[in-house]
Amino acid sequence: MTVTKIFYHTDFENHIPTLNNPECANRTKNIMGLIQKENFPNIAIEEPEKIKKELIYAAHDKDFVDATINKFPENDEIYYLDQETPVSSGSKDATLRAAGAGIDAINSIIDGKSKNAFCIVRPPGHHACINKSMGFCVFNNVAIAAYYLINKYDYSNIAIVDFDVHHGNGTQDIFYNNKNVTYYSTHQYPLYPGTGDVDEVGCGNIFNIPLVSGTSSASYQKIFQEKIIEQLEIQQPDFLIISAGFDAHKDDPLANINLSNEDFVILTKKLKIIADKYCNGKILSMLEGGYDISALENAMIGHISGLQE
Ligand SMILES: [Zn+2]
Repeated sequence: MTVTKIFYHTDFENHIPTLNNPECANRTKNIMGLIQKENFPNIAIEEPEKIKKELIYAAHDKDFVDATINKFPENDEIYYLDQETPVSSGSKDATLRAAGAGIDAINSIIDGKSKNAFCIVRPPGHHACINKSMGFCVFNNVAIAAYYLINKYDYSNIAIVDFDVHHGNGTQDIFYNNKNVTYYSTHQYPLYPGTGDVDEVGCGNIFNIPLVSGTSSASYQKIFQEKIIEQLEIQQPDFLIISAGFDAHKDDPLANINLSNEDFVILTKKLKIIADKYCNGKILSMLEGGYDISALENAMIGHISGLQE
């Protein structure tokens, strides 16, 4: 059986391809070539379909979804869904395929066609709230995927682990009162978007782990073990979703946490052990942030190698 399925589509390169924005098309442009070069033994590559609108409604307000889909420009203009969320004419297909990747990946995993999946998507999703696009994120890809697991496959004990350097305020917003999902986030704090304090606990299902600027690799690994891995051992989730942002890398220009490429391999392996123990290996990972291109590419390769083992 294929261990890891990679979901990618060249449509992702047409989401704001020209604007000088940190969340740029070059982030994922070379990644498929780099993956091919690695000759990973157990991967398959697939192009995701565009998601059906009805599946987005599960995580977002219906009127917001309909209005947003009508806001994508059809000419070469840039439209700002919020101050940090520009979209271009290619963004509609990219957005629908980014969310669709999570759906296709779940179907692949549930059907036993792969153990886990990594969706290398743009735009990212974890800042997108119930009724608001923000912070480079249009719709919340991981939240839509989690709702698909709940509604289609009756899952009720899902873990979402978010190691992006920013707090996934959108994911927290969507699941704040939903015990079917437990959300774990490490993030530099204070930093954009300003949420993610330890006292934001939802219905006991939100675990925020704020990190001070300058946190070292060794401190991060200790915190990740004690606050996330040990809590996952208590939760014993039956499906693991990763909001895989790589902007806690030491070279990232948007934050100041000092992880190396090797750290992302270690985090991934630790999460894989949890998934093997409680989820029959089932992991859906979706790309969030990461803005130093070379650091991001290397960290993604490390993440895939961790998922493969
Ligand atoms: Zn981020």
